[in-house]
Amino acid sequence: MHAVTAQISSSGAIDASARTPFECLLEAELNALRTAGLYRSRARLDGQQGARVAIDGREFVSFASNDYLGLAADERIIAAARAGVDRFGVGAGASHLLYGHGRAHEELEEALAYFTGYPRALYFSCGYLANIGVISALCTRADAVFVDKLNHASLNDAMLLSRARFHRYAHLDLGRLEHFLRASRARRKLIVTDAVFSMDGDLAPVPELAQLCDRYGAFLLLDDAHGFGVLGTHGAGTLSHFGVASERIVYMGTLGKAAGVCGAFVAADAALIELLVNRARTYIYTTATPPALAVALLESLAIIRREDWRRAHLARLIAMLAAARPTLPGALLPSHTAIQPLVLGSVQTATRTMRALAEHGLIVPAVRPPTVPPATARLRISLSAAHGIADVERLLAALQQLAP
Ligand SMILES: *Cc1c(COP(=O)(O)O)cnc(C)c1O
Repeated sequence: MHAVTAQISSSGAIDASARTPFECLLEAELNALRTAGLYRSRARLDGQQGARVAIDGREFVSFASNDYLGLAADERIIAAARAGVDRFGVGAGASHLLYGHGRAHEELEEALAYFTGYPRALYFSCGYLANIGVISALCTRADAVFVDKLNHASLNDAMLLSRARFHRYAHLDLGRLEHFLRASRARRKLIVTDAVFSMDGDLAPVPELAQLCDRYGAFLLLDDAHGFGVLGTHGAGTLSHFGVASERIVYMGTLGKAAGVCGAFVAADAALIELLVNRARTYIYTTATPPALAVALLESLAIIRREDWRRAHLARLIAMLAAARPTLPGALLPSHTAIQPLVLGSVQTATRTMRALAEHGLIVPAVRPPTVPPATARLRISLSAAHGIADVERLLAALQQLAP
């Protein structure tokens, strides 16, 4: 502490030349990231999230958000949030089990269960915590978890925290998965997968996974962070898209992406939900989400279900990209979802392309290892119902200009 205080001059500025040994170590680590082109920093939005964003006073068309339906700044949802604050205040003030649980949370859970066709649903403060809560509550050392290699980081962390034995199969390799399931003598077997893969935009083969569950007495945790609101009848999600319903599937959807607000939910039968209330540590040992957000989410759900035009428009934009595939630099992955990855290979090419697009007033984030496998650095183009046809035309023209 003394060393640090001594470095602050009378003007309050920190003397950068006098670093503690610990700081030097951290600097070396950061420099290694810089050298590898993997240093990350945050852009700072001036105002609202949406298809148009302002950064440091300049306006951009953004293909970066997961606000796939354009609801993050919807006036009706903002009004609902305001009404929720007026009625319930700002903070929940306590955890769900210790008097922080309210009517608004429960109304939202009922609406989510009804929408997804499950008996019950449980509202978590975010998807990361929901995944950790579910896997740790369902699996212990005596159990086995089977995971796709391209699963989201939160599922990987959840699997490690549960201490269950884990088996990772190559992306979508059901032959390998079946081999693992057949060989496993675990008490409980839980297959865990993204429904829509977050960096590839492709879908897990849910009907086949459900069959494997039946055949091997396994369960499936389906993380539908990118499918809920976007796929299926009225946006009910990936299960609805495939027309699959199974007692062996535990469904997880997030509410900060297409739903435009914050949080996540798990839908399942009553016993599983009650088990989560009793055992999911990330549900129990955290402050309940502000009830006003649940009020906002009820409005968001109503809009998601009613406004099919948002999904129809999104489908049109997706088709525009697919039609332009041969003219684009790099490889546009064959995705039918709002996530349209353009694989460019090296970190340098991806970063350079991202910068060139920014000069055109377009924001498309480069996704680099370790978020994606080595040598598959890419632009992750996120389409939204809030984009106009002209926005996508502008993006395509800029990309075509960069094609070799
Ligand atoms: C974003 C995401 C999560 C985490 O959800 P949050 O609510 O943002 O914490 C979980 N799984 C997948 C596949 C995601 O893309």
